[in-house]
Amino acid sequence: MLLFSDLPALTGGTLLQLAPAAARIQHLLLDSRRVGQPAGSLFFAIGGTQHDGHRYLPDLYQQGVRLFVVDNPAAIPGGVGAFPDAGFLAVGNTLAALQALAARHRRQFRLPVFGITGSNGKTIVKEWLAQLLSPDELICKSPRSYNSQVGVPLSVWELNATHTLGIFEAGISETGEMVRLARVIQPTLGIFTNLGTAHDAGFASPAEKVAEKMQLFGDVDTLFYCRDHEAIHAQAQALLGPARTFTWSRHHAYDTHVAVSVLEASAGRTVVRVALERPVPQEHTFTLPFADEPSVENALHGLTVLLWRQVPAPEIQRRLDRLQPVAMRLEMKQALNDCYVLDDTYNNDLAGLRLALDALARQPRRGRRTLILSDVLESGLPAAELYARVAALLPAHGVERLVGIGPEIGAHQALFSVAKAEFYPTTEAFLAAFQPEQFHQETILVKGARRFEFERIVAAFQQKIHGTVLEVNLDALVHNLNFYRARLQPGTRLMVMVKAFAYGSGSYEVANLLQFHRADYLAVAYADEGVELRQHGISLPIMVMNPSPDSFQKLRQYHLEPEIYSFERLQEYLRAAQEQAMPAIHLKLDTGMRRLGFAEEDLPELCATLRQNAAHLRVASALTHLAGADEEQHNDFSRQQLAAFQRMAPQVEAALGYSIIKHALNSAGIVRFPEAHYDMVRLGIGLYGVEASGQQPDALRPVSSLRTTISQIKTLAPGQTVGYGRRGGPVEHERRIATLAIGYADGYDRRFGNGVGEVVIRGQRAPIVGNVCMDMCMADVTHIAAARPGDSAVVFGEEMPLREAAARIGTIPYELLTNVSERVKRVFFAE
Ligand SMILES: *Cc1c(COP(=O)(O)O)cnc(C)c1O
Repeated sequence: MLLFSDLPALTGGTLLQLAPAAARIQHLLLDSRRVGQPAGSLFFAIGGTQHDGHRYLPDLYQQGVRLFVVDNPAAIPGGVGAFPDAGFLAVGNTLAALQALAARHRRQFRLPVFGITGSNGKTIVKEWLAQLLSPDELICKSPRSYNSQVGVPLSVWELNATHTLGIFEAGISETGEMVRLARVIQPTLGIFTNLGTAHDAGFASPAEKVAEKMQLFGDVDTLFYCRDHEAIHAQAQALLGPARTFTWSRHHAYDTHVAVSVLEASAGRTVVRVALERPVPQEHTFTLPFADEPSVENALHGLTVLLWRQVPAPEIQRRLDRLQPVAMRLEMKQALNDCYVLDDTYNNDLAGLRLALDALARQPRRGRRTLILSDVLESGLPAAELYARVAALLPAHGVERLVGIGPEIGAHQALFSVAKAEFYPTTEAFLAAFQPEQFHQETILVKGARRFEFERIVAAFQQKIHGTVLEVNLDALVHNLNFYRARLQPGTRLMVMVKAFAYGSGSYEVANLLQFHRADYLAVAYADEGVELRQHGISLPIMVMNPSPDSFQKLRQYHLEPEIYSFERLQEYLRAAQEQAMPAIHLKLDTGMRRLGFAEEDLPELCATLRQNAAHLRVASALTHLAGADEEQHNDFSRQQLAAFQRMAPQVEAALGYSIIKHALNSAGIVRFPEAHYDMVRLGIGLYGVEASGQQPDALRPVSSLRTTISQIKTLAPGQTVGYGRRGGPVEHERRIATLAIGYADGYDRRFGNGVGEVVIRGQRAPIVGNVCMDMCMADVTHIAAARPGDSAVVFGEEMPLREAAARIGTIPYELLTNVSERVKRVFFAE
């Protein structure tokens, strides 16, 4: 076990303050929001322009963390003296120190370790290799796609003496990174998955990219790869030679260890013949339970490793049969009785459980936090110790209710001290006893190993009312947030507009993510929207743009800050503020929008009023809004507006005698007028994936995807018509018409009818025929022979850009997003 006092020698750092004697390091911690077990946690303060880890030291100390590694001692708030009985180590670079620590941990263990890299498929190859080898080995592997400079050390830290095999993936984005990962992983075996054609900004040429990735494998005994990638082959041979490589190929002319020919590829499976020369010439036929090309390639890597290990062919087939698609994302789903389900039914090892519990703990507190957990597999620990560790994780992550399913967890139920716990031997037993009304307003993490088939539990929790969902990609949302954030000067604040149900995406879920990612402010249109956020645990400052006088009490009660735009509102608010303390206000200045706000000629009176009422009214900010930020043709007008704001806001500030936040720009303005970010910007549509200025068309990722399903398909004879008013047709030739489970009551505008709108089915466009009905509409799928009832149809999303869909009916993306009705279920997911 590593002691804090070992660290100076290991990292070349110096102790700023000694830790209590014999402080052991058990957990590595990088994120102050994810403190599971403070005792024994060592926090690494990693720098960054927006979120310097040093800032969070007091917060961590409060939570009980006592061991810290820093690389900027001057940035320790209050100096080390402010942290009695905490150990501080100063190093040149905290990330390098983290990697050194993980490398030293790795060196303690002598076991075969796979390092996996390549352009695509790393995570799937890792997961499948683990599935294929789990009957023979106790495996430690990277959780999810933990393959970065930070993720790799955290993965390797999980190794313990009982493991017999390690499988870690390594991902890089620029030169110099792989050497560092190789030092941590120290692989003895390697898999180079493939080489994508995608242009990589971090590399001068494809050859340089291969060379960089190849650095993972300098010390391996055997590298596995597909011989058909010439660039990989050339460099692998140059580096390792034939004795240290083991290849497969689908190319008959090649000299390879495993020659693969595809005999048959059909509905969901691929039959292959493989021929080997060594150890004895042999041929086998295997069936892979996949038909798509990436899955076949990924499975062939695993198959090759099994052949190399000389696993008997019938046993290989048995293991291939059990391969399952890897769910790469943790999904959050609306469920019955106002519950939410975090669906993580793919695997269940200790590292994955910890990540999923982190995700659960990040959800704001609404009702109870519940965990439905199967037996935990492949931990390499004796069962009693394993379940003791699992039990310790639960209170640390706020779990108040546990449903344990499986013989092992049941046998150790005495270890769990949660308020409410129940245990079932099997998934069937749970489902037989399942009573929906026993779950109410809970956030439920469903975490089970595959063989427990917990997807059946998730299905039981999800009311299937309606075949239409709005999928919200939370990773894309964070990507977009970071795009805007990167354009701001350090210190410029970010207000995010979550009005109108967060532009249709789901207000509390989006707000929660923004709170986690430390936005500075939120804004809503009405007080009730703000109340709803508060009731869901959102504690960020919230501006309310349209506060009515009858909502002032709510503003006070829930600490919501109103925007004040007229003398009437100001006087009403002052009356309330004279009686009891009210939240600070935001002053709206009208510089040309001519909608709401104080005009320039109002300023003398406004300033006088503010001066007279300085004792009981506090102003947080002054803002204005541009009328034409998204269009270049209005640039001159926008600049006049900004100039007016720069004249007006300082007058307000002078009257108040203290400084206030000044802000003017929406999403388009942030991109177009970087010189006018002032103290804060107001991000709206850009967060949801629409770059409204048009200057950075490829910078954002689509966030929302509206999809429905085909309910039925009919074949129309010549002369027949479709739908109300017989507006579709009469058709000239026989046509196949699909009825879709979406109508104008879901937010699918009637203007999409009669050929104006298109949906995407099986990758192909299908035009809407006839009128859009209230709950349904019809699409022509004559040219999509494979279309079947149950298929999904994309209304907008990755395959049908929101901007295009909006343009088809002559509107803007804002309207399409906010029109999606509340009866459409939202599914949130993150990778
Ligand atoms: C909605 C709104 C924004 C955000 O506008 P986007 O174009 O969506 O970025 C900014 N400021 C005010 C006052 C708004 O009402």
